[in-house]
Amino acid sequence: MIHPIIEHKIVNSIEDLMIPADNVAHVFANNTLSHGMLVLSTVNYSMIPVLSSDSKLIGLINMPLMIKAITTIEAIEVEKLDQILIEEVMIEPPVFITVDTSFERILSLLVDHNFLSVLGEEGIFLGIVTRRNLLTHVNRFVHSISDNEDLKQLILEIARYENK
Ligand code: AMP
Repeated sequence: MIHPIIEHKIVNSIEDLMIPADNVAHVFANNTLSHGMLVLSTVNYSMIPVLSSDSKLIGLINMPLMIKAITTIEAIEVEKLDQILIEEVMIEPPVFITVDTSFERILSLLVDHNFLSVLGEEGIFLGIVTRRNLLTHVNRFVHSISDNEDLKQLILEIARYENK
């Protein structure tokens, strides 16, 4: 368990950690691989979300998946880039969170995942929480306790909370 005082000092809510959907590079399921490659090579992220036309998260896509789809033993069939759709190649999102997911769970999921998709009602894609954003907050917190006085203050705060 993470003490609520510690949790609160690291982050107030998932929204603090979240990159909102408008700022998340993504593709749509019915885009071609050509379009997917264009987006991925422009944004320089290893893996991005795949959305349906009604903004639901339905998959994840990366460059290796697309290259594999157009590669045979003999050749790379570049012409297929305009024939194959992202939805034929994407993988299922391994995991997602909601705004109610506990901080503890987010922390443990981010040990294994570079980012977590945040979904709202009916699977609507709200944004992502990345390892970088979480580590930025944790980094700020650990540096906020730099001497005995900081530590004493924190312990006092916890004691006050426990005695409430
Ligand atoms: P980071 O922790 O910033 O290295 O991000 C981890 C992963 O999250 C990246 O490799 C991408 O797959 C994904 N990611 C981060 N920021 C964005 C973004 N703005 N749009 C799409 N995907 C992102």
